[in-house]
Amino acid sequence: MNDSFADKMNDRDVAHDVRVLGGFIQIWCDGSHEDLERSRVDTRGAVLGVYGRKIPRLCPDCEAHLAYGEMRRAYCPKDPKPFCAHCDTHCYRPEEREWHRQMMRYSGPKSWRKGYAIDGIKHALEARKYRKMAARLPAKRGTS
Ligand code: SF4
Ligand SMILES: [Zn+2]
Repeated sequence: MNDSFADKMNDRDVAHDVRVLGGFIQIWCDGSHEDLERSRVDTRGAVLGVYGRKIPRLCPDCEAHLAYGEMRRAYCPKDPKPFCAHCDTHCYRPEEREWHRQMMRYSGPKSWRKGYAIDGIKHALEARKYRKMAARLPAKRGTS
């Protein structure tokens, strides 16, 4: 076990984000891989008890994506951290970024009814803020 990773998981915000990620991937796996063999994950975060009693039950592929996301979150250099979808220095491998983007697109709207209403609202508000910022960019260039 990497001690530094364990230290990171002692941070409340990091642990919260990892739990939310696990919950969102659970929603995706429930909806997409119900027919696959699934079991409680054995990721570094799970071994450290980050998920408490709500340890995700995932297929092996989703578990690997969760393990990757745990590491990215643990070593995120951004402070304050934006949602990864709006990060200007995205640190995910391209294929992981695409996988997480699709997963979030599926799980985000469903998360509201699955115990993640506050996180869903935060996500929706931040997405709206970034959409507005993006919409203003061409206008600024045009007026300068
Ligand atoms: S994508 Fe950006 S916000 Fe997300 S973990 Fe990587 S550096 Fe941090
Ligand atoms: Zn799965």
